[in-house]
Amino acid sequence: MQRDHDVVIVGGGPAGISTALHLQAVAPALRIVVLEKERYPREKICAGGIGARAFKLLEKIDVIVDCPCVRFDAVAMRVAGETVVAREPWAGVVVRRIEFDHAFAKIAIERGIEVRDGAEVTAIRTTAHGVTVEVDGEALTARAVVGADGVGGIVRRQIGFPRGELRAQAVELDTGAAPGDLPRDTVVFDFSTTELRGYAWDFPTQVAGEPLVCRGVYVLRDPRSRELASPSAEPRTRLASYLAERGLAIADYRTKQFAERGFEPGAELAAPRVLLVGEAAGIDIATGEGIGQAIEYGALAGRYLADALAHDDLGFTDWRRTVTKHHLGWQLALRHALYRTFYSHRRPRIEPLMPSMHQLFRVGVQDFAGAPMSKLAVVRGTGQLLAAYTRAKLGSRRSTTPA
Ligand SMILES: Cc1cc2nc3c(=O)[nH]c(=O)nc-3n(C[C@H](O)[C@H](O)[C@H](O)COP(=O)(O)OP(=O)(O)OC[C@H]3O[C@@H](n4cnc5c(N)ncnc54)[C@H](O)[C@@H]3O)c2cc1C
Repeated sequence: MQRDHDVVIVGGGPAGISTALHLQAVAPALRIVVLEKERYPREKICAGGIGARAFKLLEKIDVIVDCPCVRFDAVAMRVAGETVVAREPWAGVVVRRIEFDHAFAKIAIERGIEVRDGAEVTAIRTTAHGVTVEVDGEALTARAVVGADGVGGIVRRQIGFPRGELRAQAVELDTGAAPGDLPRDTVVFDFSTTELRGYAWDFPTQVAGEPLVCRGVYVLRDPRSRELASPSAEPRTRLASYLAERGLAIADYRTKQFAERGFEPGAELAAPRVLLVGEAAGIDIATGEGIGQAIEYGALAGRYLADALAHDDLGFTDWRRTVTKHHLGWQLALRHALYRTFYSHRRPRIEPLMPSMHQLFRVGVQDFAGAPMSKLAVVRGTGQLLAAYTRAKLGSRRSTTPA
């Protein structure tokens, strides 16, 4: 049966473009089309922080994304009244998505990949013989479809994957510098509001050449928690108070808010002839980091698809296992476990111990940067974790022992 394409990729964000580029790199003869509903340059509400690991992955297929960015060499965490800083040269960059995603898509176009923008997919049907994707009144046929269409994507909905429970809301704006800001080579995650299931951030950014700071608040919505009933945990309210602490008024800025979908271990990521990648599959729920993960999903999906198409084995039954075994999967699972532990009833006991676990934090930043992990930091970090665990255990025993 003759089909128009081998693979239709729905969504031209980092996950879709990365999948297309990695697939083409290993199987250049395949007919690939990326369908993006918006027109480039298109905006995506996002703070734009990307760990250098993602760029190191892209370098392996000779991809260098050329767009304005602010480099950072340190990641800071404010927690339990302290600021912990992990220094890592070239830890990552902060981009504007309107520029980054356009530059990324242009590389795919220059390499001969068909990227159609202004092309909204309105229906998807799969049969035992192929896939039909409707776009602009045209029905495209393909051997497989990739859902790279983000948090509220059509592929997930039409194929009947569950909606997913782990959601977050993030609200952000750009301001000038403010008193108390750390140096511009540092991105900051602020966990000071203990009743907030989430954090506030300050990322150095650059808008039309002007140095600004992207500030925002990330709030997890867990269906098991009624926390959002508390007004201080509403993202915009928390952002207003976070800004006020820095002498800034939220009313002076344009805020932007959008949802995020977290990776859920064990959830399905594929169906026959259908693969989910990027935020359509699920990203890091602990920090809401998703661009690097989207690029990593693409690297993995490109190689996986090339092999599956070569063997005409398009059931994709082992896609989830493939993700789970890879760095991407264990890192997402680890961060999911951290989220479950940190935002539990144990938080009051864990939080005060976090500043003492700075070596572990450093290892996390090295992973984010794709830098070789310092063995000494891993050993010391494990020691700090064990010491913190013992102190938490002793503390809980003391608090439950009757006087
Ligand atoms: C406020 C906020 C701040 C964030 N900050 C960061 C950060 O600093 N660092 C970080 O790593 N992550 C951050 N994230 C998360 C990050 O933005 C996403 O995880 C990332 O964009 C996921 O990439 P993706 O390619 O999977 O999806 P997307 O970037 O969402 O791309 C999906 C694409 O699919 C297209 N599409 C959707 N439906 C259709 C359709 N029917 N037909 C055709 N095309 C379609 C969309 O137009 C879109 O271009 C933030 C998110 C929010 C909300």
